[in-house]
Amino acid sequence: MVNNLNKIAGIILITLFLSGCGFLSNQNNTEIIKIQDSTEEVQEEDRIEIETQDDKKVEIINEEKEEDEIIPPSVEKVEKPKEEIAKNTNEPKITNKLADWGFSKSDNRKIDTIIIHSSYNAVGKDVHDLDDIIYKEYKPYGVSPHYIISWEGKIYRLVEDKNVAYHAGESKVPDGRTGVNNFSIGIEIVNTKSEKPNSAQYGALRNLLAYLKSEYKIKYVLGHSDIAPGRKDDPWNFDFGKVR
Ligand SMILES: [Zn+2]
Repeated sequence: MVNNLNKIAGIILITLFLSGCGFLSNQNNTEIIKIQDSTEEVQEEDRIEIETQDDKKVEIINEEKEEDEIIPPSVEKVEKPKEEIAKNTNEPKITNKLADWGFSKSDNRKIDTIIIHSSYNAVGKDVHDLDDIIYKEYKPYGVSPHYIISWEGKIYRLVEDKNVAYHAGESKVPDGRTGVNNFSIGIEIVNTKSEKPNSAQYGALRNLLAYLKSEYKIKYVLGHSDIAPGRKDDPWNFDFGKVR
């Protein structure tokens, strides 16, 4: 009898539990539906409010940006290119062809002299061949100018202005200073001893000299023969009247 009573009590408890679960689950379902309805309604209201607020904010921000950002930068953008263009017109077109020989590095040398030289290609067929002059004549001797102006009138930079290029050798300027490499810029013009520099070369040299004079306070523009008389006779057939 005790076992039967226990079984009956167990069955009743299980039935109550299951029915309770069913009851609870029904309540949960109705509550979920209500919650979903309410959240949907709230969300829709919020969306409308948020969207309208966002639209207003975006419109306001856009209007402020148009006034604050576009107008002042457009003024700056117009001014900066004008300055850059003005500077560029003063600078000649220079192509870097930097040598890793023929100079020593310097950071604070004072430049006040420009020396003009002549070079031609004596080792190949084309007397004006720039690479032969640079790599077969300058390089083996460990010498280099800062600039060389090709027969076509193009300017190439072999050594940066700030560095001491080996172009003058033993030399002296009229005020008595020696070691001219230390305070000078060297410029080679490509022409032979029987040729005169052409008009494209003179034009390029005028531009280069104007640029260097705007960068440094230049005291002398001299030929190699002026600072090493008897030892050097270049620049050949050069007319200083065309660059002064
Ligand atoms: Zn020279």
